[in-house]
Amino acid sequence: MTLFIDVDHAATLYSRLGIGRAIREMAEYIQADYQRWDAFEKSPRTANHSATGVIELMPADDGRQYAFKYVNGHPGNPARQLLTVMAFGVLADVDSGYPLLLSELTLTTAVRTAATSALVAQSLARPESRCMALIGNGAQSEFQAIAFHEMLGIKQLRIFDIDAAASRKLKHNLQAWPDLEVIVAHSVREAVKGADIVTTVTADKAYATILTPDLIEPGMHLNAVGGDCPGKTELHAEILRRARVIVEFEPQTRIEGDIQQLPKDFPVTEYFRIAQGLEPGRQGAEQITVFDSVGFALEDFSSLRYLHDLAREHAIGEPIHLVPTPSDIKDLYQLIAPSPEASVAPAASVPRQIAAG
Ligand code: NAD
Repeated sequence: MTLFIDVDHAATLYSRLGIGRAIREMAEYIQADYQRWDAFEKSPRTANHSATGVIELMPADDGRQYAFKYVNGHPGNPARQLLTVMAFGVLADVDSGYPLLLSELTLTTAVRTAATSALVAQSLARPESRCMALIGNGAQSEFQAIAFHEMLGIKQLRIFDIDAAASRKLKHNLQAWPDLEVIVAHSVREAVKGADIVTTVTADKAYATILTPDLIEPGMHLNAVGGDCPGKTELHAEILRRARVIVEFEPQTRIEGDIQQLPKDFPVTEYFRIAQGLEPGRQGAEQITVFDSVGFALEDFSSLRYLHDLAREHAIGEPIHLVPTPSDIKDLYQLIAPSPEASVAPAASVPRQIAAG
């Protein structure tokens, strides 16, 4: 049987644990997988683009387990009461090829993206960072805010969105974190001025420049989450030229990240090198660092692994009959074979109604 985790199951798990703890534990799974980078078979995701968005398939395996995620990105969806990003995925056993887990991954993507952002920032942001600007206050934003509060000690959040209702919603939802001061800014400039960390998590199918070079101060860490598709960016190219840029998996980020604006030989650092101690994180107080996040399949592999462990520990989820189990393994037909007693009318005797017009 395959374990099935729907949105209600996942929400129960995250609520039971507390979202702060879930993000921290998810980050531990992601870090552990980045530390064994070479164990993974990796490829850029497959993206099918349309006029309104993109649908992507993200596979990864470590020789023992295999995972894939189906995820969309449709910036115009909220206008029709649909999520910009939703996802589901599978964890499977490599030895047999059989699925172990079929799970919702919409909530889980928000958790894993925030966990990854905070994990990378732990090595790159200045240790004394306490103030973060958060530009784009949609579905991902609470998770980003909580991750940076829990994992980096961010105490003040300056938030901005072109949709004032989104900022009000974010401020309201963060009331449960009394140690986190939330200030609604009137512009990107107001939000960013003096911040230690700037997170951009906007959605627009465009070469956007949410941040321009004049806004960037020495020592800032930029966590650029929303530029994750060809033709969809958030940072002015000059910011990237001045910064040390960290990516997840270079071949994918060259296509999808903000660095798509730069020549193919622009130097970047893959995060696994920092996770494994092959390269230092921040190299000086004045250094400007950018995490050009696009979301990599390894992080979804880690998420599914975490969910699978969590669901079994908490006895949450439902076993489903996703794969046939015929008593004679070579006789799949038995599952649909008519019983000998059943009388089947000959096809010719059943008049077919073909609707005209
Ligand atoms: P969402 O549609 O719920 O929220 C996006 C918000 O950005 C909206 O409130 C919108 O008003 C705001 N916005 C758009 N243009 C803006 C601008 N110029 N200035 C300020 N705010 C602006 O989407 P979401 O689910 O929160 O996702 C946000 C982005 O993150 C998307 O682009 C998505 O593709 C990306 N994403 C990346 C990863 C990753 O791993 N890197 C994972 C998940 C989502």
